[in-house]
Amino acid sequence: MKKPVRVAITGGAGQIAYSLVFRIASGEMLGQDQPVILHMLEVPAALEALKGVVMELHDCAYPLLEDIVMTDDVNIAFSDVDYALLVGAKPRGPGMERSDLLKINGEIFTEQGKALNDFASRDIKVLIVGNPANTNAYITMHSAPDLDRKQFSSMTRLDHNRAVSQLAEKTGVKITAVKNVIIWGNHSTTQYPDINHATINGQPAKSLVEQDWIINEFMPTVQQRGTAIIKARGGKSSAASAAFAAMSHMRDWVMGTDEWTSMSIPSDGSYNIPEGLIYSFPVTIKDGKINIVQGLEIDQFSNKLLIATQHELEQECEAVADLLV
Ligand code: NDP
Repeated sequence: MKKPVRVAITGGAGQIAYSLVFRIASGEMLGQDQPVILHMLEVPAALEALKGVVMELHDCAYPLLEDIVMTDDVNIAFSDVDYALLVGAKPRGPGMERSDLLKINGEIFTEQGKALNDFASRDIKVLIVGNPANTNAYITMHSAPDLDRKQFSSMTRLDHNRAVSQLAEKTGVKITAVKNVIIWGNHSTTQYPDINHATINGQPAKSLVEQDWIINEFMPTVQQRGTAIIKARGGKSSAASAAFAAMSHMRDWVMGTDEWTSMSIPSDGSYNIPEGLIYSFPVTIKDGKINIVQGLEIDQFSNKLLIATQHELEQECEAVADLLV
């Protein structure tokens, strides 16, 4: 058995965390030979609810779960942690502008970035799920100047999985037949779900579906899937699928994958995306290192969409510029 690792989850009493922490404790994220110590952070008002989640975790008697730290103190939550999944975020309230949401969450993620900088393991891997996820990741990264930028990421894996699933359903194949789908840009409706390089059983996906379906059905379905789920679930947003995506993102980061997946990471300038912007790219992962898939041909239609989602991210970053170190 390996030495236990510490995994922090913020928003521990929330919907996504409720689907996430049990899977982490069971070994699904880091492997069946990896004991874990969970650090669960909540706001003071949600500590009582968090206590209930912790009781249920104990009741599962997971062999891999060595200990649980439950706290409303961000410094304790991130002390010596090896992995952090930042799920908790303030939802948009009635009448709240996007800029207000960016500011409120900006303050939360500034504090969390500082605490990661000062207290986390120097090798920590950080995944931001709480929305607006890319910009929250940008703020967290800037608030932790002693950590390498490559240690920060945000989640577009759920969008990626949604795109794979839509394509498999349309063409009547198994999920595993679909490869090389890409989500570019922001985890928002400006994201670009791209199947120009995708294959289905080795065949170019574009030769099997109509262009009209790609533009008028596939892309809007993936981009607006979150809203459709909220409507169908009577106001509740997707939680189990978001948790599965978060777990898969972190598992692939740790274990590696030869298959393309989509992750929002600080740009290294690839595809002319400004360096440092937290942007979703096609990636593969080896030995804990995320590599952007290089050399893809970007046609004019795609290029416009890559730039549009880049501009939205730049505007979000500008709106929180006064919070950055
Ligand atoms: P959820 O657990 O449902 O969602 C948490 C965050 O994940 C939200 O920002 C949500 O965005 C986001 N998210 C990202 N991708 C997705 C996706 N694909 N589908 C759905 N959500 C997605 O929210 P709850 O309100 O149930 O729980 C949040 C918890 O966080 C609360 O218990 C609250 O107390 C806590 N919190 C903790 C903080 C902390 O630890 N310091 C700070 C602030 C809150 P969206 O809102 O757009 O759906």
